[in-house]
Amino acid sequence: RSGLSKTRQQINDTAGFLGNDVRDVFTNRLETVEDLEYALIAADVGRAATEEILEDVRRSEGRNLQDALMSALTLQLEPDARRAEFRKLGFAPQASRVSVDPRGHVVMVIGVNGVGKTTTIAKLGQYYQSRGRGVMFAAGDTFRAAAGAQLGEWGQRLGVPVVQGTDGGDPAAVAFDAASARRARGTDLLFVDTAGRLHNKHNLMEELKKVRRVVDKADPGEPSEVWLVLDAVTGQNGLQQAKKFHESTPLTGVIVTKLDGTSKGGILVPIVRELGVPIKFIGVGEGAGDLQPFDSAEFVRALFD
Ligand code: GDP
Repeated sequence: RSGLSKTRQQINDTAGFLGNDVRDVFTNRLETVEDLEYALIAADVGRAATEEILEDVRRSEGRNLQDALMSALTLQLEPDARRAEFRKLGFAPQASRVSVDPRGHVVMVIGVNGVGKTTTIAKLGQYYQSRGRGVMFAAGDTFRAAAGAQLGEWGQRLGVPVVQGTDGGDPAAVAFDAASARRARGTDLLFVDTAGRLHNKHNLMEELKKVRRVVDKADPGEPSEVWLVLDAVTGQNGLQQAKKFHESTPLTGVIVTKLDGTSKGGILVPIVRELGVPIKFIGVGEGAGDLQPFDSAEFVRALFD
């Protein structure tokens, strides 16, 4: 599993996804549930999710703190329905990877500027292309100057066709053109970039809803997927962002970027816990290959190796 050992390497190279406080549990420097509580809060896991993890840890009598924490964390990193299944299995999560095979043909990629949305679309292009799927991009962020050019460059580098709009033009029109073109060509997957301006949030949310409607109209059949890109470094703010987006355009997946550069990756836990939306991929660098399907059990294990 070269991908995973790469994550492990990257995590070890930096501060580590949950920071040194949590890592201490695994080197036996942390021994009490109170120490653990402090460490989880410091890693940005959030109050409510921390309480649940501690509850699971206390319940797992007879197991050592390391194993109990590993299971509790894995459990928390699963969406609601699967978590219930896992509990039935008696705290021993198996088969923890969710499907990253998009239903339908169109994936809308949303998120605020700077989180790594455009780069993530390029990474997704490479990921599916290397698995034999035909891929197209739509440059639907007509608001940020140069967003279209940036995606165009990635498209050229990867050999992925990009449907462009005009700067300041109607993003729904680009999405419509791209979705129609995808259908006509019979390409497997279309990834639609979208605007991420933070000011004027109301307009942004309305625009995303419109893009979604237009895509589903141009490409009827399976409804499109909506994947939110979140920057791990933003911590609890990321959770608030995710909630806002989820309210207006229900998410079907989350991608967390920049896990190579933070010790506050605990934000993954409340994202899944509060939204019940699966994490599909994690971003661990700036290159087109720095994207990995998210597997909760493998991921938690890698953190402490
Ligand atoms: P957008 O505004 O959301 O489209 O963001 P961009 O795709 O332009 O990315 C913003 C910056 O974040 C760029 O410098 C990217 O190279 C960088 N970036 C994106 N994903 C990752 C990641 O997983 N790790 C790191 N370290 N940097 C990333």
